Amino acid sequence: MDISYILNELGEDREHYFNAVAPPIIQTSNFTFKKVSDLTAAFEDEMSTYLYSRGINPTVDILRKKLAALDGAEDCLVFNNGAAAIFAGIMAYVKAGDHIVSVKSPYTWVQRMLEVILPRFGVTHTFIDGTKIENWETATQPNTTFYYLESPNSWTFALQDIRAVAALAKSRNIKTLIDNSYCTPLYQKPIDMGIDLVMQTATKYIGGHSDTLGGVLCGTHASMKKIFDSEYLNIGSGIQPFNAWLMIRGLRTLPARIDRITKTTAEVLAFLKQHPKIDFLLFPLDPTFPQYELAQKQMGGACGLITIALKTNSRDAIVRFCESLKHIMMAVSWGGHESLAIPKCAGIPAGDFDPSNPEHRYVRLYCGLEEASWLIADISQALDRMD
Ligand SMILES: *Cc1c(COP(=O)(O)O)cnc(C)c1O
Repeated sequence: MDISYILNELGEDREHYFNAVAPPIIQTSNFTFKKVSDLTAAFEDEMSTYLYSRGINPTVDILRKKLAALDGAEDCLVFNNGAAAIFAGIMAYVKAGDHIVSVKSPYTWVQRMLEVILPRFGVTHTFIDGTKIENWETATQPNTTFYYLESPNSWTFALQDIRAVAALAKSRNIKTLIDNSYCTPLYQKPIDMGIDLVMQTATKYIGGHSDTLGGVLCGTHASMKKIFDSEYLNIGSGIQPFNAWLMIRGLRTLPARIDRITKTTAEVLAFLKQHPKIDFLLFPLDPTFPQYELAQKQMGGACGLITIALKTNSRDAIVRFCESLKHIMMAVSWGGHESLAIPKCAGIPAGDFDPSNPEHRYVRLYCGLEEASWLIADISQALDRMD
């Protein structure tokens, strides 16, 4: 399917709403019925009917169709945020006694789910270095039913060989879920590589303007229906019509923004690479990246996030760098219009700071939609003020 068709036409029935170019926000909680038999049918298969907006809603449906097509998936559910999408995807496919193999240091709230919530229900896990396929094999137990992938992750950009992990999982009848937030379906299509469930946060690139949250889960129609009938309706974390409308609006410009951010990131990267105060940097498509070859093989591109290790032994110098940035804001998240910086040491007690551990000297930069020269000038003056 042509991406221009997906983003501009798919799912949009303009003649049903006055030929308006932009879709309406169907801001309703419930839908009326004329016949009892229709109501009965809706109760029996809520996913096929407009009954109640905790389930299916017409504005959300437009978004679902576009996002499923972008991922090359049969179907899609959209949640109120990415964490909810992951929660539902995992909950639907584990039961007491099951074991999950997950990449180490997954997204914060996945780690919390595996460590704090699931053990209460008898589901165990093993965190592995997912960069090596043999680690998946070794960690797999007779009761392993689920593999959790995140490739690349959003700090060190560690990758998994997605095709290899998916093939291993299939041979053992294990369900796979990948967090594809870094790449978006524009730069990586895990369904084509054999992954069962593909998740991305829509809060980042799809929304694109740091003004709303959303989460996407794609897979077969059967798997989406299973999740819809249980976790989706029960947890009640589906995206609301207005937020879905904002995501549809975000999708219109997604390729343009990703293109622009890709170019800007390359310019910022070139500046950082020659700067004496940068010890080293991490970026999946930089030749110095440890998994550069795999990144080239399975990713269509990379953009936005760059992690730098500052050349200093002083936590104060890192703090000075971050606090000297005049335009690049210090904040969590990424994928919006605005460039951001966040130091790893903010999450480490000051007394535990250890400069011999390069991770403690990491600052993650996100390149937004500003001019590259403006960002480079800001980073340059902040590096000058470091010490
Ligand atoms: C932000 C993020 C999430 C969670 O998405 P929310 O919409 O904030 O819940 C998951 N994975 C990655 C890699 C993220 O960056």
